[in-house]
Amino acid sequence: MTENVIEISRLGKSFGALEVLRDIDLTVRRGEVVCVIGPSGSGKSTLLRCVNLLEDPSAGTVVVDGIDLTDPDSDIDAARRHIGMVFQGFNLFSHLSVLDNLTIAQRKVVKRSKADAEKVARANLDRVGLAEKESAMPPQLSGGQQQRVAIARALSMEPDVMLFDEPTSALDPELVGDVLAVMRQLADEGMTMLVVTHEMQFAREVADRVLFMDGGGIVEQGPPSDVIGAPKEERTRAFLARVL
Ligand code: ADP
Ligand code: MG
Repeated sequence: MTENVIEISRLGKSFGALEVLRDIDLTVRRGEVVCVIGPSGSGKSTLLRCVNLLEDPSAGTVVVDGIDLTDPDSDIDAARRHIGMVFQGFNLFSHLSVLDNLTIAQRKVVKRSKADAEKVARANLDRVGLAEKESAMPPQLSGGQQQRVAIARALSMEPDVMLFDEPTSALDPELVGDVLAVMRQLADEGMTMLVVTHEMQFAREVADRVLFMDGGGIVEQGPPSDVIGAPKEERTRAFLARVL
């Protein structure tokens, strides 16, 4: 196993003439929790989407588990299986039961048997506190429960790293805590995590490192006590003054 799960160097991304990311260097070590903060439009989602090649980088390299995803000869689909992603919207199949949502990719992509896939799925539903909901349909669940199902679904692919893009932003305030608690538990279990979030308290308590992004670049990074507690850069201070 490689010590660094993610190694990004000199990453750039443009959409036509619009340069959205420039010269991003970022390494995430195994077991590390990195939170990304920054204003809307600063490139946070695009950065995450470049890590699993939902977006094709315009420049630079993205290496995950030692596999260069930007090398056309790499097996991107195989590499992607080790990357779990959780979005703001839960993207569950509304016509499939919770259990089937968790088994479908395992069966189609990893070719697990029904019995094996269900065993993994049930273990992960238990992990997010939803063992009793396996027969429910997603629309019957609260937003917080749906997001925990989405996390359990990603975990069922047994990823080496989990990417979270504002996983609690679409939730009613009273449902945010349960999702953050599951993420905190994953962090405690040693999961490698790259988390875009506006939850500053979570970032302060759970992140090993916080990155502040603005204008497509990393402006400042370090332990949360520095970046959130005592930011060096004026742009970081101005952002925090708006959100804290
Ligand atoms: P954030 O997640 O920090 O809010 P994004 O990564 O979503 O920022 O977007 C950064 C910039 O890239 C924004 O100006 C956005 O409009 C632009 N952008 C994102 N995706 C696309 C796309 N598919 N085509 C064109 N522009 C895009
Ligand atoms: Mg975003």
